[in-house]
Amino acid sequence: MPTFRVLLSSEQIQKRVEELGATIDRDYPAGEPVYLIGVLKGAFMFLADLARATKVPARIEFIGISSYGKGTTTSGQVRLTKDLDVPIEGCHVILVEDILDTGLTLTYLVQLMKQRRPKSLRIAALLDKPDRRKVEVHADYVGFQIPDEFVVGYGLDCVEDYRNLKDVCVLEA
Ligand code: 5GP
Repeated sequence: MPTFRVLLSSEQIQKRVEELGATIDRDYPAGEPVYLIGVLKGAFMFLADLARATKVPARIEFIGISSYGKGTTTSGQVRLTKDLDVPIEGCHVILVEDILDTGLTLTYLVQLMKQRRPKSLRIAALLDKPDRRKVEVHADYVGFQIPDEFVVGYGLDCVEDYRNLKDVCVLEA
Protein backbone atom coordinates (compact mmCIF):
# COMPACT_ATOMS: atom_id res chain seq x y z
CA MET A 1 0.00 0.00 0.00
CA PRO A 2 1.34 3.47 -0.82
CA THR A 3 1.53 6.04 1.94
CA PHE A 4 0.36 9.62 1.59
CA ARG A 5 1.92 12.67 3.20
CA VAL A 6 -0.52 15.57 3.37
CA LEU A 7 1.06 18.59 1.69
CA LEU A 8 -2.05 20.81 1.60
CA SER A 9 -5.05 20.02 3.73
CA SER A 10 -8.59 20.34 2.50
CA GLU A 11 -9.06 23.32 4.87
CA GLN A 12 -5.99 25.12 3.50
CA ILE A 13 -7.19 24.52 -0.06
CA GLN A 14 -10.72 25.77 0.64
CA LYS A 15 -9.44 28.94 2.30
CA ARG A 16 -7.09 29.71 -0.60
CA VAL A 17 -9.73 28.98 -3.24
CA GLU A 18 -12.08 31.43 -1.48
CA GLU A 19 -9.34 34.07 -1.70
CA LEU A 20 -8.83 33.40 -5.40
CA GLY A 21 -12.58 33.69 -5.95
CA ALA A 22 -12.61 37.08 -4.25
CA THR A 23 -9.71 38.26 -6.43
CA ILE A 24 -11.54 37.13 -9.55
CA ASP A 25 -14.61 39.09 -8.37
CA ARG A 26 -12.51 42.24 -8.21
CA ASP A 27 -10.88 41.67 -11.62
CA TYR A 28 -13.96 41.28 -13.80
CA PRO A 29 -16.54 43.90 -14.79
CA ALA A 30 -19.87 43.31 -13.12
CA GLY A 31 -22.40 41.38 -15.13
CA GLU A 32 -20.15 40.12 -17.92
CA PRO A 33 -20.02 36.33 -18.18
CA VAL A 34 -16.70 34.59 -17.69
CA TYR A 35 -15.91 31.19 -19.16
CA LEU A 36 -14.13 29.00 -16.64
CA ILE A 37 -12.46 26.38 -18.79
CA GLY A 38 -11.28 23.40 -16.80
CA VAL A 39 -8.41 21.31 -18.12
CA LEU A 40 -9.45 17.67 -17.81
CA LYS A 41 -9.23 15.72 -15.79
CA GLY A 42 -7.06 17.07 -12.98
CA ALA A 43 -8.76 20.47 -12.65
CA PHE A 44 -12.31 19.24 -12.16
CA MET A 45 -12.36 19.64 -8.38
CA PHE A 46 -10.56 22.99 -8.36
CA LEU A 47 -12.93 24.24 -11.06
CA ALA A 48 -15.98 23.17 -9.06
CA ASP A 49 -14.76 24.96 -5.94
CA LEU A 50 -13.49 28.04 -7.77
CA ALA A 51 -16.81 28.42 -9.59
CA ARG A 52 -18.57 28.49 -6.21
CA ALA A 53 -16.02 30.87 -4.69
CA THR A 54 -16.63 33.61 -7.26
CA LYS A 55 -19.72 35.72 -7.80
CA VAL A 56 -19.04 36.39 -11.50
CA PRO A 57 -21.65 34.87 -13.84
CA ALA A 58 -19.55 31.84 -14.72
CA ARG A 59 -20.00 29.56 -17.69
CA ILE A 60 -18.39 26.16 -17.30
CA GLU A 61 -16.52 24.43 -20.08
CA PHE A 62 -13.88 21.71 -20.28
CA ILE A 63 -10.97 21.02 -22.54
CA GLY A 64 -9.06 17.74 -22.62
CA ILE A 65 -5.32 17.49 -22.76
CA SER A 66 -2.98 14.57 -22.45
CA SER A 67 0.60 15.32 -21.51
CA TYR A 68 1.76 12.80 -18.97
CA GLY A 69 1.15 9.39 -20.50
CA LYS A 70 0.69 6.76 -17.85
CA GLY A 71 3.60 7.40 -15.50
CA THR A 72 4.73 10.16 -13.22
CA THR A 73 7.25 11.77 -15.57
CA THR A 74 6.34 14.07 -18.41
CA SER A 75 6.44 12.85 -21.99
CA GLY A 76 6.91 16.41 -23.20
CA GLN A 77 4.12 15.81 -25.69
CA VAL A 78 0.85 17.69 -25.46
CA ARG A 79 -2.22 16.37 -27.24
CA LEU A 80 -5.77 17.71 -27.45
CA THR A 81 -8.20 14.96 -26.43
CA LYS A 82 -11.37 17.07 -26.11
CA ASP A 83 -12.04 20.44 -27.66
CA LEU A 84 -14.42 23.12 -26.37
CA ASP A 85 -18.11 22.71 -27.18
CA VAL A 86 -18.67 26.42 -27.77
CA PRO A 87 -16.96 29.38 -29.46
CA ILE A 88 -15.29 31.78 -27.01
CA GLU A 89 -14.74 34.68 -29.40
CA GLY A 90 -15.32 38.03 -27.66
CA CYS A 91 -15.69 36.39 -24.22
CA HIS A 92 -13.74 36.57 -20.99
CA VAL A 93 -11.91 33.29 -20.40
CA ILE A 94 -10.07 31.85 -17.43
CA LEU A 95 -8.20 28.63 -18.10
CA VAL A 96 -8.37 26.55 -14.94
CA GLU A 97 -5.50 24.09 -14.50
CA ASP A 98 -4.57 21.80 -11.63
CA ILE A 99 -0.82 22.26 -11.68
CA LEU A 100 1.72 24.30 -13.59
CA ASP A 101 4.80 22.13 -13.96
CA THR A 102 7.06 22.41 -17.03
CA GLY A 103 4.61 24.91 -18.53
CA LEU A 104 4.27 23.00 -21.81
CA THR A 105 0.56 22.25 -21.39
CA LEU A 106 -0.46 25.81 -20.63
CA THR A 107 1.77 27.25 -23.36
CA TYR A 108 -0.02 24.99 -25.84
CA LEU A 109 -3.45 25.85 -24.45
CA VAL A 110 -2.85 29.60 -24.37
CA GLN A 111 -1.78 29.49 -28.02
CA LEU A 112 -4.88 27.48 -28.90
CA MET A 113 -7.23 29.77 -26.96
CA LYS A 114 -5.74 32.94 -28.45
CA GLN A 115 -6.54 31.67 -31.94
CA ARG A 116 -10.21 31.74 -30.86
CA ARG A 117 -10.03 35.49 -30.09
CA PRO A 118 -11.41 35.73 -26.56
CA LYS A 119 -12.00 39.22 -25.12
CA SER A 120 -9.55 38.41 -22.33
CA LEU A 121 -7.59 35.35 -21.29
CA ARG A 122 -6.24 34.60 -17.82
CA ILE A 123 -4.86 31.50 -16.14
CA ALA A 124 -5.74 30.00 -12.78
CA ALA A 125 -3.55 27.18 -11.47
CA LEU A 126 -4.12 25.60 -8.09
CA LEU A 127 -0.49 24.49 -7.79
CA ASP A 128 2.76 25.78 -9.22
CA LYS A 129 6.07 23.92 -9.26
CA PRO A 130 8.41 26.74 -10.33
CA ASP A 131 11.55 24.58 -10.11
CA ARG A 132 10.32 22.41 -12.97
CA ARG A 133 9.58 25.14 -15.49
CA LYS A 134 10.88 24.61 -19.04
CA VAL A 135 8.95 27.41 -20.73
CA GLU A 136 7.87 30.67 -19.15
CA VAL A 137 4.16 30.93 -18.41
CA HIS A 138 2.43 33.66 -16.45
CA ALA A 139 -0.40 32.41 -14.24
CA ASP A 140 -2.71 35.17 -12.99
CA TYR A 141 -4.22 33.22 -10.10
CA VAL A 142 -2.02 30.71 -8.28
CA GLY A 143 -3.16 28.76 -5.25
CA PHE A 144 0.13 27.47 -3.86
CA GLN A 145 3.74 27.14 -4.92
CA ILE A 146 4.98 23.66 -4.06
CA PRO A 147 8.35 21.87 -4.21
CA ASP A 148 9.27 19.42 -6.95
CA GLU A 149 7.40 16.40 -5.62
CA PHE A 150 4.76 14.27 -7.28
CA VAL A 151 1.38 15.03 -5.74
CA VAL A 152 -2.04 13.39 -5.90
CA GLY A 153 -5.51 14.18 -4.61
CA TYR A 154 -8.02 17.01 -5.05
CA GLY A 155 -8.38 16.00 -8.70
CA LEU A 156 -4.78 14.94 -9.33
CA ASP A 157 -4.11 11.31 -10.12
CA CYS A 158 -1.47 8.65 -10.36
CA VAL A 159 -2.56 6.36 -13.20
CA GLU A 160 -6.20 7.44 -12.58
CA ASP A 161 -6.14 6.68 -8.85
CA TYR A 162 -6.44 9.05 -5.87
CA ARG A 163 -8.30 11.90 -7.62
CA ASN A 164 -10.99 11.88 -4.92
CA LEU A 165 -8.69 12.48 -1.94
CA LYS A 166 -9.71 15.71 -0.22
CA ASP A 167 -6.13 16.79 0.51
CA VAL A 168 -3.20 17.28 -1.85
CA CYS A 169 -0.72 14.60 -0.83
CA VAL A 170 2.78 13.54 -1.75
CA LEU A 171 2.69 9.92 -2.85
CA GLU A 172 5.39 8.03 -0.98
CA ALA A 173 6.34 4.52 -2.02
P1 5GP B 1 3.18 20.72 -17.62
O1 5GP B 1 2.77 20.70 -19.04
O2 5GP B 1 3.13 22.08 -16.98
O3 5GP B 1 4.52 20.05 -17.43
O4 5GP B 1 2.26 19.72 -16.84
C1 5GP B 1 1.01 20.00 -16.45
C2 5GP B 1 0.30 18.69 -16.22
O5 5GP B 1 1.18 17.66 -15.74
C3 5GP B 1 -0.72 18.86 -15.12
O6 5GP B 1 -1.95 19.27 -15.65
C4 5GP B 1 -0.79 17.47 -14.54
O7 5GP B 1 -1.71 16.70 -15.28
C5 5GP B 1 0.58 16.89 -14.74
N1 5GP B 1 1.39 16.98 -13.51
C6 5GP B 1 2.45 17.76 -13.29
N2 5GP B 1 2.93 17.57 -12.04
C7 5GP B 1 2.12 16.68 -11.46
C8 5GP B 1 2.08 16.10 -10.14
O8 5GP B 1 2.88 16.36 -9.24
N3 5GP B 1 1.07 15.20 -9.93
C9 5GP B 1 0.16 14.86 -10.87
N4 5GP B 1 -0.76 13.97 -10.53
N5 5GP B 1 0.17 15.39 -12.11
C10 5GP B 1 1.14 16.29 -12.39
